[in-house]
Amino acid sequence: MGKVCAVFGGSRGIGRAVAELLAQKGCRLAILARNLDMAQSTARHLGAGHLALSCDVSREQEVQKAFEEMQRNLGPINYLVNAAGINRDGLLLRTKTEDMIAQIHTNLLGTMLTCKAALKVMIQQQGGAIVNIGSIVGLKGNSGQSVYSATKAGLVGFSRSLAKEVAKKQIRVNVVAPGFIHTEMTAHLEEDQLKKAILLGRFGEPHEVAQAVVFLLESSYITGSVLVVDGGLQLMT
Ligand code: NDP
Repeated sequence: MGKVCAVFGGSRGIGRAVAELLAQKGCRLAILARNLDMAQSTARHLGAGHLALSCDVSREQEVQKAFEEMQRNLGPINYLVNAAGINRDGLLLRTKTEDMIAQIHTNLLGTMLTCKAALKVMIQQQGGAIVNIGSIVGLKGNSGQSVYSATKAGLVGFSRSLAKEVAKKQIRVNVVAPGFIHTEMTAHLEEDQLKKAILLGRFGEPHEVAQAVVFLLESSYITGSVLVVDGGLQLMT
């Protein structure tokens, strides 16, 4: 029987690529996003036996309900991937408080809520693996992304602390920190300028991040790590 995996933010971009790779490996997936149509379309694309659910990660009751649905339909989850994320880029002086809150609630609180719900299941099973998607800007910082960077830096502290809390239950928690990846989130960026700052000279593709996520999920002796997938961006800046 394949592993059961929940991919929050699995309807498009990096999360969808992770879901595709896990499905190829025989996992049974729950694809979760706010837009149910898009989550359903991704689940259908993966083949039969996968589940699509609408869930806003920043709302505890919706997260709770989603985990109940997953348990009922797929059984206890083995893997959790947190790829749901938003950015509201801009200089801090021009950033509205509501945009700060939205980023903190989705990127940071959302991950805390899904991890908390998943742990209840994983602790009972005495095992599981979690990968949270951070960002290279959470490690390096970036002008115009102070709030987004803070949420991603927060994920590192959160994931490392959680790794310490749950290691004795054989549950591993890691972070993947991507650089610039071709998705809807980066579609508006000036690629020609930005790629000059990347050692490999190009943006990454979602499947290249998915490889790292799945590697960490399937590993057995890695926990509390941050795996950077940025084409060498961090060496250039
Ligand atoms: P996309 O915008 O392509 O996809 C984001 C996904 O998150 C969608 O499935 C979206 O679905 C879901 N989502 C957003 N808000 C919520 C919410 N409140 N509740 C549930 N689901 C939500 O982004 P990417 O694939 O590019 O990003 C994935 C992750 O990777 C994010 O955490 C992002 O910060 C991070 N990242 C991306 C980089 C890049 O260059 N693309 C670089 C570094 C990190 P819906 O809108 O229907 O809810």
